[in-house]
Amino acid sequence: PVTLRDIPQQPRDEAFALTADFKADNHPNKVSLSAGVYRDGNSKPWVLSSVREAKRILHETTNLDHEYLPIQGLDSFLDVARDLILGKGAAATANVVSLQTISGTGANHVGAAFLVQKLQPKNVFISDPTWSNHHLVWTVGAPTVTQRKYPYYDFSNHTLDFYGIMSTLETEAEENDVVILHACSHNPTGADPSREQWQSLAALFKRKKLFAFFDSAYQGFATGDVEADGWAVRHFQQTLFGESSAEEDPSSAPPGMCIAQSFAKNFGLYGERVGAFHLILPKQTPAAGARSELLRLVRAEISNPPLFGARIVQTVLSDAKLRTMWENDLRVMSGRITKMRSLLRQAIEEDPNPGDWSRLESQIGMFSFTGLSEKQVLRLREVHHIYLMNNGRISLSGVNEGNVKYIASAFNEVLR
Ligand code: PMP
Repeated sequence: PVTLRDIPQQPRDEAFALTADFKADNHPNKVSLSAGVYRDGNSKPWVLSSVREAKRILHETTNLDHEYLPIQGLDSFLDVARDLILGKGAAATANVVSLQTISGTGANHVGAAFLVQKLQPKNVFISDPTWSNHHLVWTVGAPTVTQRKYPYYDFSNHTLDFYGIMSTLETEAEENDVVILHACSHNPTGADPSREQWQSLAALFKRKKLFAFFDSAYQGFATGDVEADGWAVRHFQQTLFGESSAEEDPSSAPPGMCIAQSFAKNFGLYGERVGAFHLILPKQTPAAGARSELLRLVRAEISNPPLFGARIVQTVLSDAKLRTMWENDLRVMSGRITKMRSLLRQAIEEDPNPGDWSRLESQIGMFSFTGLSEKQVLRLREVHHIYLMNNGRISLSGVNEGNVKYIASAFNEVLR
């Protein structure tokens, strides 16, 4: 008989383990460059001013109850969430099913569970490297869906490996296969395709009928501009399922595409778990069946999603004044990150030894791939009390004017 006595212990989750180790470290100069959370110039959590204001309005003017939401979540939130990622016009005309989820993770998971059961792809292609949770989330596909990696990053030149992405998908992906794409601010590399490269990708997905699974966890966080950061998703939606596709034979199009949308970073609502899943189908494909299956998955897992964070996002996005405040908040966060990229580069390059660190400025979003080896990363932790992921990824949000010189001199010491 099966027993629970002999379960082997799995390793701790690296990101959360590093955060715990950092907290337990008493060194006065310790620096956390591991967690993917925004910190202000004093390394403190930051509540966005638009979010503060929305909370005040919610508390003062609304008679807040704590009733259950319907299974799909707060409809008025889903409307603004869909508009934000697809653009208002496209959102109004697309054939799309939207559900509220437990942040981006829940959206990734419900999407994976649905596709495994209903699309039944042979493979899911995941960028190498990626957010480590993609691999764990997609264990839901075992044993029928094989996890495959597509090369993403040219480790020697510190750039996107666009040729590797295209050639792998061209030769190895089959019709109906799912491909995870990071909508912007690729985690962990900070390297995104250019618009021309996204156009080539969309054409490839269309021709090969691949299912694009966009993970959108940083809209507005990369450039400070939600339109620019949503460009790739919008381009795919328009190219594959836009107005002009209505007359096309549905069998010549991919089966659909989807978006896992997180509001953790762009609203600073990490612990409130606000997210959405959007499934976009070809114009002629009936959506009611897919919607009913998605609702069953949500019912079995969470019954209905949490209320408060969705109310905050809905309040901010549906009020012109609050939305302007929020867009300013995004520029504050992305602007500080951009400034830290250049300060850290300058400070590192003050020493002639490490060579060119321009990658810190060409990469975008919260993360950079430093190229530091695991040995160097461990030395940074043990000797300098600087915590980063073993693969050399740093979160720029941990850098500030007070610690940038310390970080740079520690990097230069381990590089020597
Ligand atoms: N996808 C990616 C690529 C991420 O970096 C993150 C956050 N680390 C998420 C999804 C989802 O995070 P959350 O569940 O907090 O929204």
